[in-house]
Amino acid sequence: MEDLQQQRCFNHLFREAVARCPECRRYFCRECVTEHEDRVLCAGCLGKKINPDASDLTRFSRVSRMIHFLLGGMLLWIFFYYLGQMLLALPSAFHEGTLWELGWWNTQ
Ligand SMILES: [Zn+2]
Ligand SMILES: [Zn+2]
Repeated sequence: MEDLQQQRCFNHLFREAVARCPECRRYFCRECVTEHEDRVLCAGCLGKKINPDASDLTRFSRVSRMIHFLLGGMLLWIFFYYLGQMLLALPSAFHEGTLWELGWWNTQ
């Protein structure tokens, strides 16, 4: 029987191992193992096990990131749109003069 306390984590040489991965039979510290379906697996073996799900998850997160990006852009656009409307709605005396009539925000 090997003493677990004598073992070091496969990824962290100076950390004591707390578990042994049943898949690859290496020792790992608390940080490097994850519970999966009542078994303690190392991150590497877990990644191999849930690979199909992981790729789905990646695709999903990519889509949601894109949605967030679009939403953020839309919010920004709405913000500046209303800001522009507000500026236009100001009494004309406020922006008398050529600078405002040129619409410098549209010329770029
Ligand atoms: Zn493993
Ligand atoms: Zn570790």
